[in-house]
Amino acid sequence: MPATRFVDAVKIDVAGGRGGSGIVSFRREKYVPNGGPDGGDGGNGGNVLIVARSSIVDLRAFRRGRVYRAEGGTNGGGSRKHGAEGDDLCLEVPVGTDVSSEDKEVFAELLEEGDHVVVAKGGRGGLGNAQFATSTRQAPRVALKGEPGQDRTVTLELRLIADVGIIGLPNAGKSTLLMAMTAAHPKIGDYPFTTLSPNLGVMEFDDHVIKMADIPGLIEGAHEGHGLGHEFLKHIQRTRVLLHVVDGSLEDAPNRIGTIDEELRLFDPGLASRPQILAVNKMDNPAAVHMGPAFRADLAGLGRPVAEVSAHTGQGIGDLVKMLDQSVAEAKSSEPARPQRRVILRPKPVDGAFEVMLDQGIFEVTGRAVERVAQQTEFDNPESVSLFQRTLDRMGVTRALSDAGARSGSTVNIAGIELEWQ
Ligand code: GDP
Ligand code: MG
Repeated sequence: MPATRFVDAVKIDVAGGRGGSGIVSFRREKYVPNGGPDGGDGGNGGNVLIVARSSIVDLRAFRRGRVYRAEGGTNGGGSRKHGAEGDDLCLEVPVGTDVSSEDKEVFAELLEEGDHVVVAKGGRGGLGNAQFATSTRQAPRVALKGEPGQDRTVTLELRLIADVGIIGLPNAGKSTLLMAMTAAHPKIGDYPFTTLSPNLGVMEFDDHVIKMADIPGLIEGAHEGHGLGHEFLKHIQRTRVLLHVVDGSLEDAPNRIGTIDEELRLFDPGLASRPQILAVNKMDNPAAVHMGPAFRADLAGLGRPVAEVSAHTGQGIGDLVKMLDQSVAEAKSSEPARPQRRVILRPKPVDGAFEVMLDQGIFEVTGRAVERVAQQTEFDNPESVSLFQRTLDRMGVTRALSDAGARSGSTVNIAGIELEWQ
């Protein structure tokens, strides 16, 4: 058996591209002695997006430890030339992937082909000196560096989306039944899963398809993580109808059904009320003779449609397919209509809030906007520093620092940059 496992959860580090820097430049024209400032802005860095693609089956392509970084913007040029924007980096994941970030700012469920979410925005390009010219400052020698892109750690977690989830104890014949049902329809989508993975099969009808997932490893205690059950139980949550398979050649079939019902209920009470069809399999087995009237009455008492089938001989399979088709159609018709436009969640916009803390004699200023401003400043350029100072004044940081007790000579730390207050 191949050692590859179906990878259904992974954490990755993503980073937007850095913005290109604005530049300081002055027009140089023949016969014009003092050309004005014409330094262009840097281009914005690219974003990192996660996009759902039905051609992708799992998350094995993603590796922890690697940073998925979008392209940076390029720097501005003379003659107000704008730097080029960095390309977005699109990471493709299977349909049914949940995307969430550790900082809780991103959460999205990508449920359909093309659904996407921006997980790290690129940094904005810095302004060139052409943008700083005013009537009183005609020759500004200041430009802004590009902003760094956002970086964060995101978790990708795949929960299958199938119309039918096939459940039952090991050996009930789930995999065989899945094959028998999909073999009844020649065009079968084959997916390269190992037996440790949910097996997918597609039944094709004239005008629609039904996707089925065989959820392996459901055993008693699965909800507590026994066997492989826990890993796969979550996949069941995104199915419309459950096909519960039980081995009809065993006399304790009703108990076995109860075991699975209990596991589902303990994992998620909502699953217990999901439409369920019971397939009593292996009816070809001579041991299935105990399926007399009393036994059938027991099963009927469970209150769900029952199909007696044999995955080996094909007995009852046609009827079962019809029951599933009908049940899926009913489930679909009672679902709320999906919104026309998918909700695409974006990281929160930068806000101007900041905090000043005094820690062991050092004033620490934190806050998205103020940290960005610091990162965009060229501290060896006096004009850049004075622009930084004005921005801090305008944001109220200067005042907050002096209220907190900062004096000339105090050390102030913003975004890891140590500054001496003057
Ligand atoms: P799963 O663990 O539920 O996926 O069960 P499998 O599909 O792997 O089947 C378990 C065993 O039962 C295999 O040896 C199958 O050949 C056998 N089996 C499955 N369906 C039938 C059936 O309809 N009749 C008989 N006699 N055996 C079956
Ligand atoms: Mg199996």
